[in-house]
Amino acid sequence: MISIKALSYTYPDGTHALDSIDLELRRGEFVVLVGPNGSGKSTLSRHLNGLLKPTKGSLKVMGMDTKDPSNLRKIRQLVGMVFQDPNVQFFGSTLEEDIAFGLENLALPASQIRDLVSEALAVTGMENYRYASPGSLSGGQKQKAAIAGSLAMGSGFLVLDEVTSMLDPKSSTEVLNMLLSLKKQGIGLLYITHRPEEILAADRILVMDSGKIIADGLPLAVIQEL
Ligand code: ADP
Ligand code: ADP
Repeated sequence: MISIKALSYTYPDGTHALDSIDLELRRGEFVVLVGPNGSGKSTLSRHLNGLLKPTKGSLKVMGMDTKDPSNLRKIRQLVGMVFQDPNVQFFGSTLEEDIAFGLENLALPASQIRDLVSEALAVTGMENYRYASPGSLSGGQKQKAAIAGSLAMGSGFLVLDEVTSMLDPKSSTEVLNMLLSLKKQGIGLLYITHRPEEILAADRILVMDSGKIIADGLPLAVIQEL
C-alpha cells in the first residue's frame, strides 16, 4: 500500500534525518519500528501521510506520490496518524460527534455518517462510549477513539507513534490487542515503540539507526541479528 524509494530527508536547518530509505508497507501487516532517540523514526512516520515531503526519492500511497499536492487530501484519509499524547484535538461534546466531525467535512449524508461512526466504534470496541464526553474517557479509550476517527475517514493504514507510552500496562495491552484485531481485518499498521514487550506482537520489525533502516525482518531473526 505504501512504497518508499531511495527516500532521503534533510531538515531546513541542514540536519540529515533520513538516508536513502527503501521500504514497502502492506495492508494486514503489523510492523514495529524501533531505534534509538534521534534515529529518524518520527521523521519517517511524518512522511507517510505527506506531513513531510522527501528531499530526495519518493513516497507513494496506493500509487499516489506525496509530492503532488492534489493527492494529499486522499492520502490523509488513507493514512491515519495517532500520536503519543491522548489529550489532544477532540472536536465534539460526545464521541459520536467527535468522530462525525471529519466526515461532515466530506459532505456525506447523515445516515451514511451514522453508519460509518457505528462501524468505527464497533471495530475499536468503543460502542458503549458513543454518547460519552471525549474528555471523560481514560487515556486508553482516548487513543481508541482517535483510531476510530481515522478508521471512520477510511484509513487503510495507521501510523502509531508511541501511542501507549503514556498509558498504564493494562490500557496498553488493550490498545495493542485492539490493533491486532484491526490487522486481522486488513488494516496496515506501523507502530513506533520503546517497549520491548510490544515488539514480539509484530509480524515484522524495522530497526533504524542514524537515518537508515539497519534491519528488517521477523522479530526473532532481527533480534538475533543485532
Ligand atoms: P526519532 O523519532 O527516532 O527520535 P527524529 O525523527 O525525531 O528521531 O529525529 C531524527 C533527526 O532529525 C535527529 O537528529 C533530530 O534531532 C532531527 N530533527 C528532528 N526534528 C527536527 C526539526 N524539526 N528540525 C531539525 N532537525 C530535526
Ligand atoms: P520524537 O523523537 O518523538 O520526534 P523529540 O523529543 O525528538 O521527539 O522531538 C520533539 C519535537 O522537536 C519534534 O517536533 C521534532 O521535530 C523537534 N525536534 C527534534 N530535534 C530537533 C532539532 N534538532 N531541531 C529542531 N527541532 C527538533
